Parts: sequence; structure tokens; C-alpha cells
Amino acid sequence: MEEKGTISIHTENIFPIIKKFLYSDHEIFLRELVSNAVDASQKAKSLSSIGELKGDLGELKVTVKVDKEKKQIIISDNGIGMTAEEIKKYINQIAFSGATEFVERYKDSNADKSQIIGQFGLGFYSAFMVASTVEIDTLSHADGAEPAHWICDGSTEFTITNGTRTERGTDVILNIAEDSEEFLEEARLQTILNKYCKFLPIPVEFNGEVINNPNPIWTKSPSDLTDEDYKNFYKELYPFSEDPLFWIHLNVDYPFNLTGILYFPKVKNEFDFQKNKIQLYSRQVFITDEVKDVVPEFLMLLHGVIDSPDIPLNVSRSFLQADANVKKINTYITRKVADKLNEIYKKDRTAYEEKWNDIAVFVKYGMLSDDKFYEKAKDFALLQSTDEKFYTLEEYRNYVQANQTDKNGNLVILYTNDAEKQHAFIETAKNRNYDVVKLDHMIDPHFIGQLEQKLEKTTLKRVDADTIDKLIETDAKPESVLSEDETKRLKELFEKAIDNQNMTVGVEALSVDDQPVIITLPEFMRRMKDMNRMGGGGMMMMGNLPDMYNVTINANHHINHRILKGDDARGEKIAKQAYDLALLSQNMLSGAALTAFVKRSVELIDKE
Ligand code: ADP
Repeated sequence: MEEKGTISIHTENIFPIIKKFLYSDHEIFLRELVSNAVDASQKAKSLSSIGELKGDLGELKVTVKVDKEKKQIIISDNGIGMTAEEIKKYINQIAFSGATEFVERYKDSNADKSQIIGQFGLGFYSAFMVASTVEIDTLSHADGAEPAHWICDGSTEFTITNGTRTERGTDVILNIAEDSEEFLEEARLQTILNKYCKFLPIPVEFNGEVINNPNPIWTKSPSDLTDEDYKNFYKELYPFSEDPLFWIHLNVDYPFNLTGILYFPKVKNEFDFQKNKIQLYSRQVFITDEVKDVVPEFLMLLHGVIDSPDIPLNVSRSFLQADANVKKINTYITRKVADKLNEIYKKDRTAYEEKWNDIAVFVKYGMLSDDKFYEKAKDFALLQSTDEKFYTLEEYRNYVQANQTDKNGNLVILYTNDAEKQHAFIETAKNRNYDVVKLDHMIDPHFIGQLEQKLEKTTLKRVDADTIDKLIETDAKPESVLSEDETKRLKELFEKAIDNQNMTVGVEALSVDDQPVIITLPEFMRRMKDMNRMGGGGMMMMGNLPDMYNVTINANHHINHRILKGDDARGEKIAKQAYDLALLSQNMLSGAALTAFVKRSVELIDKE
């Protein structure tokens, strides 16, 4: 038998177009052909299970071979095979129509081409991206079927003849085109197979070795799995990573189909976030690790796999965003993550607290970006005090309420973003029996803003934003022992000694135990500048302004009283020294100013 035919499609020369526009994604031909072989094998399995496959099912397996001499890549399976009629129907008509549809879509769509192209499963015809001619050698499982051989050079002409194959199944033979010979390199094929075929459900053999794990744990029931299984699978996905903190096994079949495992990673630095990504599969075929839109943005920091045949993969991004299934998947994942966190929190608070520093960023990011998540997470989001104790938001409010409510009835939460640098301020607060929490992550400035919005009559103030009496204003304010004249003279002496217009000097009655001079950067000022740095926009001016500090002179400190006793030159000298000490405690003294300070200090010691 020999039959020549013409494939009936309307678009001429579709292959040059496909070839050109799929350029960056040529490697997917292997994914497409291997998954076809896997599908054919699975169909054989199902037919056998209902007694419709004659003879022995045998050991199902897909083999990928390279013949460098003949410049061929051969993908073989012992699946259901095809009759000549089926080739004409499935390959010539159906597969071609897929390719035609692609070209039609490409033509009509002027936006987002790369998305359409990148995710359009071209199936069988993607073979022509790398092959000059493609052959099919196949024998159908059907009773009395004859082997068939098909060859096509990528034009719309094809030839079908009698084949020679004696065993059920299909060989797809790619005669690799000159410009695609890179795919004859074994290392290259190995990489592609690893990327796309690692979890296909039928064993795939390359170079005599099975390259895949046909039963990845996400396809199993959680009750059949141990912690060890989850950890081992994590290692399989991300070989060089530390053990994950915990994981969530996803499993839904209504109203959409989705399985998967999401891991909370142990993140050491910001860089780690970018390194490993969630992988998206469709029936165990790797699709992409660009899961934006499918997974809520704040959960993109998680690791693991999601497998869903219900995510439309062959459409553009804008379509994906609008897709109802994708939205439901988003909501589902968010809820599962919140429930899991809540479960661990309730089950073992200590273990949860130990993990808090690693998960805080996910939780806060989630609270900031998703109101529903905030509602759930507000019960298990923690604040960590500088005494290393943990509190939920509610617990913390109750803890500090009595002591840290100011005269206007506002609860003031004091925080530090650098417990080392702000040590002196933290000590001062603690001497007043105030508590200070640590909010030192990149995300915390945003989180602080959110807490102030959500928590009633509550403000957060950085511990070094003002003198302690001003941070939490109470009615019990120390009285100044200085007269009006003395206050005025003290202020002038300090202004002369400091001689810096970015420092606003003021004399305040503080406790005798407080420092003689305290330098602070007002909360408002700092926040504006932080916002500006993080791209808040609209306040360009703020970012360029120098920091305007407040210098508070303690009217009740005896050193300041000594400054007033004696002539101006002496007073200014002590004032300068006290001011430098304040700068030093804030890590703000450097260069020539520091050298001068050390020199002056040596002289002072010498006089003793
Ligand atoms: P899709 O896989 O999306 O249906 P393809 O273009 O990849 O589209 O394949 C078209 C059809 O050709 C398949 O549906 C299948 O019926 C048939 N086919 C392709 N490869 C094989 C194979 N290795 N064994 C049996 N049938 C195959």
C-alpha cells in the first residue's frame, strides 16, 4: 500500500510561522511527543483493565533514543498504536487543525504573543520545529490491525505505506533539521527530559535509565504518606535546599481539579526567595514555573508543585486572569494555607513560635495583600517582644494596655527595627516598664501601617522616634527645675555647640535618670522617607530632604545644670561633649567629628 495525500488546511506555510515564533520554546517538542507516548500507554492500560486490549499488556514504557549518525531522535512506546486510518484522522486532521488554530490565533491577537506561543500545546506538530521530516511507525492494538508507516516533510504532503512493526505501539522518528542539531546532544535531551518529564506517570527511559518518578507523592493520599516522604520529595524537587518547615497537601476535585503540595521553605536570605519556584503541572506534565496568576502573589514565595488539568494553559495571560477556575484556585489555595497555619498554631504553640521568624514574611505579606487572609491570620500572627516572648495581636494589646495607653486613650505599641542600634532607647523604655517589640523585616513598615489601620485606637512608634515621655504621653509629667532664663541660656549654649541646622534643639523636663541629651528622628519624618525610598511616589521631595532630627536637652539632668554654672566657653565645651555622646549612642558620630570627640575626651580624662 502506498497512499499520498494532501493535508487540507487553509493556511499556507504554517510551519515556517510556527518555527519562527516558537523559537525560544523549541525544546517543548520533546514534552509533547513524550506525553503523547505516555497517553497512548495509559490508554492501553485502561483498555486492558476493561478487557478490551487483546494479548498481554506487557511492561509499559516510553523510550527516547538518539542516533547521532542518522541524526534521529526516536520516541517509542508500547501503547495502543494507530491504524493507517487513525493516523489520517488523528495526525493529519486533528493535529493539523491544532496547528492551524494556533496560527489563526497568532494572526488575530496583537497582544501577548509570547504567552500564546509559549503555552500553546502544539502537540504532535511541534516535532517540525526541530525535524525536517517526521516518520511514524506504528501497530495498533486492534484485532487484525496492519502496521503502518507515515512520513511527512513538514509541507502539507504526506505518504502512508505498509509498515514493518511487529509489536503493538508507536515509534515517532524525527530526522533532525540542520539548524536543530543541538538536540542530538544527549546532555541537552537529558536536561529537557528532566525539566518536563520528571513526573510523567509511565516510566520514561533514556540512555538505559528511567529518568522519571512515575508516582510522585502529590498523586497519593496524605494518609499513606509520612513526614519523611514529604521531605524526600522536597529534596527531589530542590536538591540543594534545607528541609522545609512544613507543607500542605492540596487535593480538590470539585468545582475544579487540583492536587499538589506546597512547602513553606526555610528562607535564609532575600536571595533564596527567587531561587526555587512552585512548579505547575498538568496531569504530571511540567508546564511552567511561572505560576503568577494561578497562585496568589503572596504565596509565590512558597515552594512545591501544583497539578491541575483545569488551568487553561494554551491561552494568553489576560485570559488566565479572568478565568473563573483560576480565581477559585486562588481562593482555595489561600484558604488552605490559612487553615494550615491556624492548625499548627493551635496544635503546638511552641513549635509554631519557633517557626515564626521564618513564616512571618508570608503571613504579613498575605495579610497585606488579601483581606480575607488578614481576617484569618490576625488570630495567629505574632508579635515578638525584645524579651523574646511571643504574643498574638490580641494578647499583646491586653498585655500592654494598662501601662501603654496615653492620655488620649490611644494604645502605643513601641517597636524597634534594630535592637542593637536602639539599645539605649529600649533600655529607657524598659525602665518605665514599657515593652518593645521587634519589627525588623523589610515588610514591617507596611505591616505597621496596616496594624494602625486595623487595630482600634492603636499607634506604633519606633522606640527612638522621640523621648520616652513624648512617645507615650501621660499626665504625670516631670516638672522642670530650671527657670525660664536658665532654659533659654541652656538652649542657646547647645545651639552654638551643635551648630547644625538639621538639628532642632529643645529643652524638656525629663526624668533625672534619662540621658542629658537625646537625639531622635520623628516617626512621621522617617516614615515619609521610608515610603519614598520604597517607591511611594508623589513625594520625590521628601527623599532628597536631609534627616531633620530633634535634639532634646534634659532640663533635669545635673550635667546640664553644671553647663549653666560658669562661662559660655566652658558651657559650650561640655554641651558639645554631651551632644557627641548622644550622637555616638545613635551610631551617628564618624570621621573628623569622631576624631575630635576622642581627642577632647582624652583631654577631659587627663584633667581628672
Ligand atoms: P493531542 O495529544 O493534544 O490530542 P497531538 O497533536 O499531540 O494532540 O496528537 C494528536 C493525536 O494523535 C492524539 O490525540 C492521538 O490520538 C494521536 N497520537 C499521537 N501520538 C500518538 C502515539 N504515540 N500513540 C498513539 N496515538 C498517538
